[in-house]
Amino acid sequence: MSDYDVVVLGGGPGGYAAALYAASAGLSVAMVEKEKVGGTCLHRGCIPAKSLLHAAEVFRTVNHAAEHGVRLPDGKPEPDWPAANRRRAGIVGQLHKGLSGLLKRRKVTVIDGWGRLTADGAVAVNGDTLRGRGTIVCAGSVPRAIPGMDVDGERVVTSDHATNSEADRLPERIAVIGGGVIGSEFASVYTDMGVQTTLLEALPDGVLPIGPDRDVADVLARSLKRRGTDIHPEARVGSLERTGNGVLVPFETPKGSDKIEVDQVLVSIGRRPATEDIGAEEAGVRVDGRGFVEVDTTTM
Ligand SMILES: Cc1cc2nc3c(=O)[nH]c(=O)nc-3n(C[C@H](O)[C@H](O)[C@H](O)COP(=O)(O)OP(=O)(O)OC[C@H]3O[C@@H](n4cnc5c(N)ncnc54)[C@H](O)[C@@H]3O)c2cc1C
Repeated sequence: MSDYDVVVLGGGPGGYAAALYAASAGLSVAMVEKEKVGGTCLHRGCIPAKSLLHAAEVFRTVNHAAEHGVRLPDGKPEPDWPAANRRRAGIVGQLHKGLSGLLKRRKVTVIDGWGRLTADGAVAVNGDTLRGRGTIVCAGSVPRAIPGMDVDGERVVTSDHATNSEADRLPERIAVIGGGVIGSEFASVYTDMGVQTTLLEALPDGVLPIGPDRDVADVLARSLKRRGTDIHPEARVGSLERTGNGVLVPFETPKGSDKIEVDQVLVSIGRRPATEDIGAEEAGVRVDGRGFVEVDTTTM
C-alpha cells in the first residue's frame, strides 16, 4: 500500500495537467498510465495528426510550385510517406521526452500499468494499491467501432493506426467513414497527398456536421471538394467486404445505392469514453449508458 495526496488514473492531457497542478501545489502525486504519458493527444491525436497535416500541406504547395513560379527540375514531386512518418514520430518522441522530464522534475510518481479503482476508492496497479486523499479519473477515450466492421489495422483502420503508420506507402484509394473533425482532418491529409479520397458521412452536412458554425464548416467542405475529395453526405455505409485488392464499401444515399472499392478504410465515427474495466462499478463511480462518468458539484 502506498499513500499519496492525489492518485491520478490516466496520463493524458487531463491526467498530466491535474498531476502537475497538484504537484506544484506541494501535494504528493502518483499517476498511473497503461501506455505512455501524453495520452491520445500526444501519441494518437493532435500532435501526430498535425504533423501529417503539415506534411500534406507542404506536398500540396510543392505540387503547385510551378503556379508560384518555382520550377522543379525533375518534374512532379512524389510523397515520401515513410519520411513524413519519421518526422511525425520524431516530434512525438521529443515531446514525450520533454513531458516525462517535466513530470520527474515536479516529483510526480509515474506508474506504468493498468489501474483499476477498488471498492474503497484506491487504485490497484501491478499488485500494489495506491491510496490517495483524492483520486482523479482521467481515462480519456478510444475510437468507436462500427459493429460488423472489423478493424484490422491494415485494410480497416482508425485514427490510432493512421497516426502511427509504419506503411511504406500511401494507399491509392481510401474511404473515410465519418466527416467529423478527425475524418475531415484525415480526408484533407490523404487528398493533399494524392490519395483518391471518398468521405462518407451519415448526416446531411458531409463535413463537420456537428459542432462548428456552418459558415466555418462550409469553408472546409468547399476546400476539400476543390482539392478533389469526393464527399457523400447522408451516406449509410453497409457491411464491408474484403476483396483480393482491398475492401468493397457499399453505401446508400438519397440518390440511391453505390459501392466503391478502396485499398483502405478509415473508420472515424467518433470516440467513446475509456471507462470499461477501470473498476468504476466496484468503486461506486456512476457511469451512464454511453460510458460517461457522471460527475456532480461536490468538492473534496
Ligand atoms: C486524431 C485526433 C486528433 C485530435 N486533434 C486535436 C486537436 O487538434 N486539438 C485538440 O484540442 N484536441 C484534439 N484531439 C483530442 C485530444 O486528443 C483529446 O481531447 C485529449 O487527448 C483528451 O485528453 P484526456 O487526458 O482526457 O484523455 P487521453 O488523452 O485519451 O488520455 C487518457 C490516458 O489514460 C490512459 N488510461 C486509460 N485507462 C487507463 C487505465 N485503466 N489505467 C492506466 N491508464 C489508463 C490512456 O492510456 C491514456 O494515455 C484529437 C484527437 C484525435 C484522436
